[in-house]
Amino acid sequence: MTRRIPLIAGNWKMNGLKADSVDLARAVAAGAAEGRDLLVCPPAVLIPPVAEALDGSGVALGAQDCHFESGGAHTGDIAAAMLADAGCSHVILGHSERRADHGEGDDLVRAKTGAAHAAGLVAIVCVGETLQERDAGQTLERISAQLGGSLPEAVTSGNTVIAYEPVWAIGTGRTPTLEDVAEVHAHIRGRIAAKFGAGAGDGMRILYGGSMKPSNAAALLAIDGVDGGLIGGASLVAEDFLAIAASCP
Ligand code: PEP
Repeated sequence: MTRRIPLIAGNWKMNGLKADSVDLARAVAAGAAEGRDLLVCPPAVLIPPVAEALDGSGVALGAQDCHFESGGAHTGDIAAAMLADAGCSHVILGHSERRADHGEGDDLVRAKTGAAHAAGLVAIVCVGETLQERDAGQTLERISAQLGGSLPEAVTSGNTVIAYEPVWAIGTGRTPTLEDVAEVHAHIRGRIAAKFGAGAGDGMRILYGGSMKPSNAAALLAIDGVDGGLIGGASLVAEDFLAIAASCP
């Protein structure tokens, strides 16, 4: 079995101005430790100063979205190659807030994921059910549909990370039971193996995201098949983000 190094990724969303963000990045860099990978994903305009603050630290830099085209007449958008050129190694795609706020569907997420791969970026593809879907017993079906629609053919365990983020757990303080998280992660790994091969299934990092914080991180990160976390609110406080990272088994 492949040893999957845990990845603790911070999604800063639309938060922060330059000075605070540089301080936050420096504090994260100062706390980086062996045995786990750290990643921060600031708002696009803050990528250059954060890149400078992280330089030489080993903490990776990511973006929160990219366009599916490599360039051209797309006002306000950013191409994956521009992100790579600015120092990013990762990009979050298909986050539920983009799916909700910008009407992004699986086809678009798949095209963006392909663009990210073409630019050499690792795509962190987010999937997750709504509360209504969970209550209706449709969670695994929904996850299967999102994976089927959002992942291009060229997915490997090297160019893609999956983030399981129940929509109802994001920013709410609520989390699924540990059993539910384990069930969905096992389901995702099975789908990845079935579509992309046993090696991809074995090697793919599958993160949990949704109200992860220092007090619940150890339990969530200890679940078999959980290879790290995608952290929103708690990634804005260096101490909390690093405490979560330190909870990796
Ligand atoms: C997220 O939006 O990716 C997320 C997990 O947010 P939070 O940790 O705030 O729930």
